[in-house]
Amino acid sequence: MAEYDVIVIGAGLNSLVAANYLGKAGKKVLVLERRALAGGQAVTESFGDGFQVDALHAGGQLRPDIVAHLDLARHGLPASTSEPMISLLADGRQLRLSTDADNETLASIGAFSKRDAERWPDFVAFMNQAASFLDAAYRTPMPRLPHVSLAEGMPLARLGLSLRRLGSRTMFRVIRALPMSALELTEEWFESDVVRAAIGSVAVHGATLGPMSAGSGYALMHNWLNRGGPGHARVEGGVGRIADALVAALKARGGQVRMSAPVRKVLADDQRACGVRLASGEEIAAPIIISGADPRHTLLDLVGAPDLPPEFVWATQSIKMRGSVAKVHLLTDGAHGLPNGALVVAPSVRYVERAYDAAKYGQTSPEPYLEITANGRVVSIHFQFAPYSLREREWSQERAVLERIAIDTAASVLPQLKSSIREIRSLTPLDLEQTYGLTEGDLNHGQLILDQMLFLRPMPGWSTHKTPIHNLYLCGNGVHGGGGISGGAGRNAARAVLKGA
Ligand SMILES: Cc1cc2nc3c(=O)[nH]c(=O)nc-3n(C[C@H](O)[C@H](O)[C@H](O)COP(=O)(O)OP(=O)(O)OC[C@H]3O[C@@H](n4cnc5c(N)ncnc54)[C@H](O)[C@@H]3O)c2cc1C
Repeated sequence: MAEYDVIVIGAGLNSLVAANYLGKAGKKVLVLERRALAGGQAVTESFGDGFQVDALHAGGQLRPDIVAHLDLARHGLPASTSEPMISLLADGRQLRLSTDADNETLASIGAFSKRDAERWPDFVAFMNQAASFLDAAYRTPMPRLPHVSLAEGMPLARLGLSLRRLGSRTMFRVIRALPMSALELTEEWFESDVVRAAIGSVAVHGATLGPMSAGSGYALMHNWLNRGGPGHARVEGGVGRIADALVAALKARGGQVRMSAPVRKVLADDQRACGVRLASGEEIAAPIIISGADPRHTLLDLVGAPDLPPEFVWATQSIKMRGSVAKVHLLTDGAHGLPNGALVVAPSVRYVERAYDAAKYGQTSPEPYLEITANGRVVSIHFQFAPYSLREREWSQERAVLERIAIDTAASVLPQLKSSIREIRSLTPLDLEQTYGLTEGDLNHGQLILDQMLFLRPMPGWSTHKTPIHNLYLCGNGVHGGGGISGGAGRNAARAVLKGA
């Protein structure tokens, strides 16, 4: 008899959400994490004395219904506060964008275009409706196309109804916007290039896309949903407190979490999952395995191509994973002079598009798109675009270049920053792979693009969280409902397990 009903690989937020739903349903769950810290990409860690940072992810929030279902507030989940986006220009001007459409925001937009300020409240309302439709789509179980049974068709019909309820004008606008570029979408609403660029930058966050790429309209809606607008949701005490609350909730439900326990192999008997082998050689049995690691790592490294059908191996190898995000953290003396908010360097649409162009040619962008946040003395710079695959150099040589460009670009809009820096700690896309376990440094475990969304995620025909190995399920960012800190993929996977178990 196995000691556990379910083993969950990884202690990222999706794994922990899945584990909690299963624990709540009475399953005995063991979570195994390769690192010494839980949270995956959403970790708060220390790089030295006074150098405590949200290492990768600057902020965010789980879906409110997940927080409520799992009773996470009782287990210590702090409230998150919404911060406006502030686009910084080299001439000292600033554009403030907030979903509140408060006087400060309207006056700020109005300084660039009076007409744009008038349109902002309607745009926010439209984006909120589009995001609520995406949210419903992410919660809807996707069928295994092309064979849709009646039972699978019903949730899809309900999703169609929720789209219809937006009203015919908004419904068509949402459908049209999905394949559009963020530029085309913002052009329909705004005349100021500064306003268009700031909104377009939301679309490219975390993606290897430019604001002129087809489908960046979808990416804009997706990130708007996750952030709750153009700014960021900041978690009091650091993003790591989300994982702390999930771990506490899981333990209260009888689950266990083992850190520094990398899984090396998913064990299967006659194509049926039956346990895992750790890097230490220890084997742990369970009749159901769920992996929150990315699909490529899970299927090709932990299962192995010889145990999978050839066409499935080919489809797994073809998942587009193209990380191009880096982080540069600065410990300052405190006199960095940053205003409050989620600061961005995205002065024009052409600037952001050119920043992306560099990634296409395997180069670190010389004029990158930046998001800059401060927490006390620490300033964190989210850098795009820095491609995982450099054409002519290695990341060991490129780190110094990345740091120099990040600091020079940030200093061009924050004049006090440079002289305040005391220590630098950068994380390249290669570090994202080696330290945080993200194949090709792809934070979404597979790009969030039109041909990898909904019933095409992680690959056509496999959007039900199942795999060719019976009772091996996928619950991470790379599967349906994933992409961001929402916890949606973990919840969907737990439901699939409970339905199939
Ligand atoms: C720079 C950056 C900025 C971001 N900004 C945002 C944002 O603004 N908004 C937003 O919503 N999201 C953002 N994200 C993405 C967000 O953090 C992730 O989508 C989310 O945390 C993913 O959770 P996950 O559980 O699916 O995967 P992960 O967090 O990747 O967790 C997977 C876990 O599995 C573990 N693992 C892998 N292989 C093994 C193995 N063999 N054995 C044991 N354990 C294993 C890993 O160590 C990791 O802990 C950002 C990410 C980054 C990197």
